Amino acid sequence: MAALPPPLSQTALAIDAAFVAAARDGDSAGVPMSGVANECQRALWYAFRWCAPLEAPTGKRQRIFETGNIYEGRLLDMLRMIGCEVREIDETTGQQLRVELAGGHLRGKVDGRVTGLPEAPVAEHVVEAKSMNERAFKALTKAGSVREAKPDHFAQLQLYLHGTGLRRGLYLAACKNDDEIYVERVEYDPAFCLALVDRIERIVASPAPPPRLHDDPTSKAAFACQWCPARALCHEGTFPRQNCRTCIESEPQDGPKWTCALHARTLSYSEQQAGCPDHRFVPAVVPGEQTDADPQRRTVTYRMPDGSAWVDGESAGRAA
Ligand code: SF4
Repeated sequence: MAALPPPLSQTALAIDAAFVAAARDGDSAGVPMSGVANECQRALWYAFRWCAPLEAPTGKRQRIFETGNIYEGRLLDMLRMIGCEVREIDETTGQQLRVELAGGHLRGKVDGRVTGLPEAPVAEHVVEAKSMNERAFKALTKAGSVREAKPDHFAQLQLYLHGTGLRRGLYLAACKNDDEIYVERVEYDPAFCLALVDRIERIVASPAPPPRLHDDPTSKAAFACQWCPARALCHEGTFPRQNCRTCIESEPQDGPKWTCALHARTLSYSEQQAGCPDHRFVPAVVPGEQTDADPQRRTVTYRMPDGSAWVDGESAGRAA
């Protein structure tokens, strides 16, 4: 007789369910500064345009986020312990400090601004606090450079410097395995920031997906594609999600805001998420070749890979 699997803990299942129930799902309204180091501009475009399926929250994933937040608070408290003054709130809004660039579409939340560091008692620094596993922490301490070991964290901190106007950053990292800490002061790099903002501005303004980072996702070099949430859209011919960001009528504007040319108005976040019956896909995201369009009926016809025709706008929904 085959052995029965061990019973599942009802307590663990209930905790997982509670974390999932409390999870805030939905797409990011803009391009998060934490993600700008992504080498693939096409992946950034797909995320900005809400194309890929959303990853379902799990209890474990939500706990990992929470642990990161707890560590962030602890690291800021460590600065207070040594007499530094740390500011996390924008007095004008009463909320966490924020930075917006690229017409407001490139967005980030600053962990804090600190003064009174032993090495630089006067200069105010932007603080970026991170926690990581032992492997990543060892690589960071070995490199002795956040720029080299954690380019995504470096880019994030640089954009915070660019957006706040401060010229010094403090990168604080903790190892989740043994609570070792790493501290590095970082200087503002204006050329790096200008290039990064320019790259994001081009992605925001692009009406179609930029070129792929890798044309063959199975090649050894295409490591990024293995983990990319847009891989099925990019390489396997699936449809994107149907919402205002994938509709040919919508356009990002400075503000930030999104407008609909068909209905001649600005769209709220929830309206964009829902889309409307007049949705027509941006042709470049449809996994077929456009063969016709009828402006009167507002339909666009495509030849699909199996040779069939699909008409966007002819009936509700889309080809499977
Ligand atoms: S699958 Fe690869 S090429 Fe396509 S968007 Fe993702 S990372 Fe870029």
